[in-house]
Amino acid sequence: MGDKIRIDQRNRAGPGAAPPRAGGLAGGRVAWRAAGAALCVLLWAVAAAAGIRALEIGVSSRLRASELELALTGRTEFRAFTLDAPRRAVVDLRGLDWSDLRAPAPAGGPVSAVRIGVVEPGWARIVLDLDAPMVIARAGFHPGPDGVPRFRLRLVPSDPARFAALSGAPPGARWQPAVRPGPPAAPPGAAAPTVVLDPGHGGIDPGALRDGLVEKEIALAAARAIAARLARDGRFRPVLTREGDAFVPLAERVRIAREAGARAFISIHVNSEPTGLAEGISVFTLSESASDRAAERLAMQENRADLLAGLDLEGETSTVARVLIDLARSGTNLRARRLAEAMIAVLAERGRPIGANPHRHAGFHVLNIPDVPAVLVELGFLTSAADRARLAAPEWVDAVARDIVAALDRWLAEEERRLAAGR
Ligand SMILES: [Zn+2]
Repeated sequence: MGDKIRIDQRNRAGPGAAPPRAGGLAGGRVAWRAAGAALCVLLWAVAAAAGIRALEIGVSSRLRASELELALTGRTEFRAFTLDAPRRAVVDLRGLDWSDLRAPAPAGGPVSAVRIGVVEPGWARIVLDLDAPMVIARAGFHPGPDGVPRFRLRLVPSDPARFAALSGAPPGARWQPAVRPGPPAAPPGAAAPTVVLDPGHGGIDPGALRDGLVEKEIALAAARAIAARLARDGRFRPVLTREGDAFVPLAERVRIAREAGARAFISIHVNSEPTGLAEGISVFTLSESASDRAAERLAMQENRADLLAGLDLEGETSTVARVLIDLARSGTNLRARRLAEAMIAVLAERGRPIGANPHRHAGFHVLNIPDVPAVLVELGFLTSAADRARLAAPEWVDAVARDIVAALDRWLAEEERRLAAGR
């Protein structure tokens, strides 16, 4: 069969197929096209799918071909495609609930990692990292021996050029911003400046993991703690880039900050490093060249978030690099550095664990906001036992949230003084 796409329609209305809903499409409908670099495969087994659960997931490799198999409680609309640099295969399934499942560890073969999660409301995503160019040979639903519908994706070896030509996200599979609730209203009579709080990672991208601690969860808890204090004090208006366990692309986080006319942007993360020796809080600002090797490595790690979620960012990298250079020289970045210094000062005064070189800089994409001073706080290292104990304690996270709010107050007062003095 080679690299040819075949959509298997056998038994599409056989045992295990969900009955067509009223007003829905009876039976299956297949639409597929291969236009230029984009290849899109769509199949509706039923017109609308809601409340479908994933029961089992497996990835196997045999004779150089790899197969993903999913057992589901019903059939649903799907899209399957590959992405290059790095090589990935992506399957999106509409209305699928993942909550009972964990991503399987692939047992050898060209699939090196599997991630599952929600990438946008209403669509669940599976991302397979590929060690070699593999193209989609087959994608579709089959009735399993037990009558439970199975979704199968079959990948076969290809060459790099053909893989590149066939890869690309179909237009409908690009991330669409969800309709989000508007920011909370400012306190009456006060034009409180907006602070955008950005909990790192989310959804399909968990961030760093260690001993049951998950970066995306700690980041969200800390951002919520800061937002709650800001909302209570009323001097700043908090806006969160994500309010739950959702995947939000880095560019969307930047867009939220700009649209909100934010006075400051604070991205919240948790670090990890191989030696296990580093501990404490660090605050990062943007620069075209990194302050040190570890900061550079960290920025690369954090910048990978979109790739991990299977977004197609081809062609965006050079623009990012160009904007970075302009930004690092701008007044916005000077204001961001002052905010970072205020945070370090407050944290040090209050005896929080901070590193020997706590204010560092590197090329973080999420700090690349032309008109908003932006800092990235790493609350500690999941690779340090002492930091893990602190990060697992809600009281500690809340105390640091209080310190960050105090630093914002101090920084804003200084900004206002400079403004009044015309500096
Ligand atoms: Zn992170």
